[in-house]
Amino acid sequence: MNHSRETSHTKSDLTLAVRGGEMRPFSQHALALPLMQTAAYTFEDTADLRKFMDARMWGLADGRTEYGRYGNPTVAQVERKLAELDAGDEAVLFSSGMAAMTTSLLALLRSGDHLIVTQDSYRRTRQFCESFLARLNIACTVVPPSDLGALEDALRPETKLILSELPTNPYLRVLDLHALSRLAKRRQVKTLIDATFASPINVRPLSFGVDLVLHSATKYLGGHNDLLAGVVTGSRDLVPMIRQALWVMGAVVDPHAGLLLNRGVKTLALRLRQQNQTGLAVARFLEGHPRVRQVWYPGLDSHPDHAVAAEQMDGFGGVVSFEIDGDLQATSQFVDAVELAIIAPSLGGVETLIEQPALMSYYELSTEERQDVGIADSLVRLSLGIEDERDIIHDLQHALSTVA
Ligand SMILES: *Cc1c(COP(=O)(O)O)cnc(C)c1O
Repeated sequence: MNHSRETSHTKSDLTLAVRGGEMRPFSQHALALPLMQTAAYTFEDTADLRKFMDARMWGLADGRTEYGRYGNPTVAQVERKLAELDAGDEAVLFSSGMAAMTTSLLALLRSGDHLIVTQDSYRRTRQFCESFLARLNIACTVVPPSDLGALEDALRPETKLILSELPTNPYLRVLDLHALSRLAKRRQVKTLIDATFASPINVRPLSFGVDLVLHSATKYLGGHNDLLAGVVTGSRDLVPMIRQALWVMGAVVDPHAGLLLNRGVKTLALRLRQQNQTGLAVARFLEGHPRVRQVWYPGLDSHPDHAVAAEQMDGFGGVVSFEIDGDLQATSQFVDAVELAIIAPSLGGVETLIEQPALMSYYELSTEERQDVGIADSLVRLSLGIEDERDIIHDLQHALSTVA
């Protein structure tokens, strides 16, 4: 066994990404993680079955299960690695980030409860809170991002959970996690942070006293745009309850996606180092360009949350949002003139992606309606990959020179 907790020396995230959580030797002494592609597990005879059922009743089955919805050795291995990376006791994987979010919220909340969500949370997360949870008599208040005062004002006696993201999309706002968890603990409210945009390499919310951290593993953790998965990490008090909800609701990750995720995570820290570096270089380049109106990147002094981001993050990430000095059409021209970055939603993979939110998530709205929700027609979101930053900047420079 190679558990890093057995020694007092804290291993680097580069090492944890490769070796974290591994329970060697793997089956048949394989070097790479074996894929256990099975839906169910067998018993030698009824005595073996009885022994298993007894052990499970006492919580001593030691990872053995009878059915794929209750566990898989390949997936369990990835969960241990992700738990170590996020400095949690335990992690549970799901079939997508939204499966992780919806299952966790249903596990944590019941009729009559109230939760607080920050405004620029993932659109589907807010939709789940505002419409689906409302049907179950679970009330939701939406508050502005990075505003602890508004958050405190929204607290009610029946508030059970504060849900936020770090950094947020598309303006990359960064909440003060120490202040958040102090407030929440004082008022006996649980906290859940969706840290998809940061990944465990840039911030570990659990170490600031946050109760649960969630990632869409589809993004940085997987890192290759070839799988969907989600993960929730936290303490032994909370994660088993969420895992039991997963056993009922059934949004389990496929073992093959788990295998791909394990392989992706091995290079997570390496990829993020490059993406953090490119993010800062691209943000600085854009900020100095006359055709760019404004840049949002938490690593820039000009970002409203730069100070708190610099204090609690180890890197500022690979997403840069900016406004072109032009209208919807001119911005589209710029996006089309970019050659290296590919037009696609999502983020966090090895390829640099570009999107104009007005034509993607906010397409149905008019220019005025978009302005009301704070999305300008000229807004562009870049999700940097691991190509050479000089090539990316050269490409952007060329595309900006074409803006009318
Ligand atoms: C993508 C994303 C999700 C949803 O994850 P899926 O894997 O697409 O279900 C949730 N939160 C954030 C911040 C995301 O970027």
